[in-house]
Amino acid sequence: MPQNPAQRSKLIDRGLKTKYAGPTAQVSPDTSLEWWRRILPVLTSHRLTFFIAISLSFVSLFFQTLIPNYLNYALTGLISHHGRSLNHDVAWIIGIGIVTGITGVISRNYVFTTAYNVEADLRSLIYEHMTWLSFSFYDRVQSGQLISRANSDIRSVQMYTTFAPLIIVQLFIGVLAFFFMLRINVELAFIAISVMPFLYLIGLRMRQVMFPISWITQARLADVATIVDENINGVRVVKSFAQENAEVNRLADASERVTWAYVKDAQLRGVWAPWIQNLPQIGLVLVLLFGGWMVYRGTLGVGAILAFNAYLLMLQAPFMMLGQLVMMGQRAKASAGRIFEILDEHSEIVEQPEASALDHVSGKVTFDHVQFEYANGTKVLEDFTAEIQPGETVALVGRTGSGKSTVARLLTRFYDVTGGAVKIDDQDIRNVTLHSLRDHVGVVMDEPFLFSVSIRDNIAYGRPEASLEEVVAAAEAANAHEFIVRLPDGYDTVVGERGYTLSGGQRQRIAIARTLLTNPPILILDDATSAIDVHVETSIYQALTSLLEHRTTLVIAHRISTISLATRVLVLENGRVAASGTHEELMATSDLYNEILSHDMTTEVSE
Ligand code: ATP
Ligand code: MG
Repeated sequence: MPQNPAQRSKLIDRGLKTKYAGPTAQVSPDTSLEWWRRILPVLTSHRLTFFIAISLSFVSLFFQTLIPNYLNYALTGLISHHGRSLNHDVAWIIGIGIVTGITGVISRNYVFTTAYNVEADLRSLIYEHMTWLSFSFYDRVQSGQLISRANSDIRSVQMYTTFAPLIIVQLFIGVLAFFFMLRINVELAFIAISVMPFLYLIGLRMRQVMFPISWITQARLADVATIVDENINGVRVVKSFAQENAEVNRLADASERVTWAYVKDAQLRGVWAPWIQNLPQIGLVLVLLFGGWMVYRGTLGVGAILAFNAYLLMLQAPFMMLGQLVMMGQRAKASAGRIFEILDEHSEIVEQPEASALDHVSGKVTFDHVQFEYANGTKVLEDFTAEIQPGETVALVGRTGSGKSTVARLLTRFYDVTGGAVKIDDQDIRNVTLHSLRDHVGVVMDEPFLFSVSIRDNIAYGRPEASLEEVVAAAEAANAHEFIVRLPDGYDTVVGERGYTLSGGQRQRIAIARTLLTNPPILILDDATSAIDVHVETSIYQALTSLLEHRTTLVIAHRISTISLATRVLVLENGRVAASGTHEELMATSDLYNEILSHDMTTEVSE
């Protein structure tokens, strides 16, 4: 749910090949409303199916309550007029039964259609919103937990919003059944219903006892899922430290804890379920006892006892569900709260309403007294000032953790500066559209993420319409073409999850090709060649030099071979530019520069 509808349509136009309309309704942004009022628009966007579901379920249950009445009528008639044919009554009962059945099937169909549509809408709203949230949000939350939690929360809200009205229909039908019982015999009606409050109380108590256990079970299942997930994603680490046994034990522990919860659940169920199941039988016994006595005295027909039996069974469900309704409500409220936590999270990076698109960029980049600290309070930049001329290649050098990658993240507006400004062609990047900014600034990171698709599709990620020739040209510039054609399926080779079937250097080269293909006027290479050996790196930069000519390039690197490509070097220390100049100048004048380089020279020699 982006703040700006124009942004959203842009996302849809650009990123998604199939036309995705998205949910028609949004969760109300008004946080002062009750939780269900906020969800209501999503539900009312499915009002037609929902209305059909509710009304048909009402019709179905209504007809169901007529059946015992007919039974009573038929049986009493049979006994008082000997020899009276039952054909007529049987036909009626069968007819009503068929109507009940058909409406029941159709209503159930609509109930589930509505329920799953509501669920799908909520899921889309959440995921769509999450794609819009800024990096700072992902720094704060564990995204894996968030997604798994969102799933169960969506389910519990969906259950309540669609099934609560159905339970209310059931309750209403219960009242109707009681009304019919009253009409047959008032005293017996009250006797029959006398056990129901106990059924309600026991049902409520049972859920109170069982609720914490079901909660514990969910949490422990999530623990198991986390361990399994870590083991699969971290399999290389687990194996290289020979920790397989320890991991198996960890999993066994977690799994044992799940078993305990399940067994506890079964035990409690074992204790409570007989009460719930047998209490209505006591009602039946009471009906038989008092009803029989009344029949004996001639104040009641035999058919009435049969009808009462049937009505009692009908009343059982609403009374049990009443407790469930309360429980489901509490749970849905808590879940909705967590869903709102995500939906109410505003992206810190927002586009100004009057933002204009970057156009005809010459490529001048200015860092104007930039201050920056991360949300957790880590101060990174104090007073970072630098100007990079169009077409210039500048190297940014500094100790590890000095903030080089942070500078790159500020230029792409992954984060906003906390002071000063970042400008492109003298325009504050906060005043341009995000889409155009990211089209103009290409970044290659040191740990590139590849998708499990073909190499060609990975390279063409930012420009899916690019021709094979363009993809090959980009791969050649990134020195990747040679190894790609040697792969079993060449450009059609599908890479493994996160690109793990490729070497680190190969992944980096594909990432460079991916960015080059979008042809950005401003290019940032953040340790983009750190996993590539020195000789290949040199040839990449030779291939790149022609490409870098008309581009403003910021190279973050540790190796002298890379740094010497730059026309100018900026040394970052204590959040500001501590020194700048050509490589040779700095070698001659800056102790800091020499210190940083000498450290990295040693690593280079050992490679
Ligand atoms: P390296 O050479 O190791 O890549 P770097 O110069 O690129 O280092 P940055 O990644 O910019 O360093 O990090 C600068 C500082 O900011 C570090 O102290 C780091 O711990 C901190 N930092 C980085 N990313 C975050 C984040 N998302 N949230 C909070 N602090 C962060
Ligand atoms: Mg870095």
